[in-house]
Amino acid sequence: MAAIHGKDTKPEMVVRRWLWRHGYRYRLNHPRLPGRPDIVMRKYKTCIFVNGCFWHGHEGCRFYTIPKTNREFWVEKVERNRERDLRVRNKLTMMGWRCITIWECELKPKLREKTLESLAYTLNKMYLKDYGAKLYEIPDQEQLLAAETE
Ligand SMILES: [Zn+2]
Repeated sequence: MAAIHGKDTKPEMVVRRWLWRHGYRYRLNHPRLPGRPDIVMRKYKTCIFVNGCFWHGHEGCRFYTIPKTNREFWVEKVERNRERDLRVRNKLTMMGWRCITIWECELKPKLREKTLESLAYTLNKMYLKDYGAKLYEIPDQEQLLAAETE
């Protein structure tokens, strides 16, 4: 099970490689940020967490099934992870970061492309919201009138 917690677990790599291939740049496991997000995209003020459905308790997901033996132990463990995830998210939000969670099940081959395309869409939309307004600003009516009468 230790491998699941490792830094280069497969689902994370899938996301990283896709982002990189599509021209997105990021930092890994940014040391100063709470919760050590899997991917940090400064340009987009965004932290991406790639969560295993079992360990992080993906609600309603078929990959989150509590083993029948030691049930209480697992329920408690996953619950603690969930609480920690929430705390980390709140902290990051207070620091001005956006958090995006990608679930492992969303990266299964059939869903992967759709998931990552929608991630890219979200990132671009956020970027436009932060910086695009200035580029596309429409001068207000008064400015236009002033320009006309000049
Ligand atoms: Zn899931």
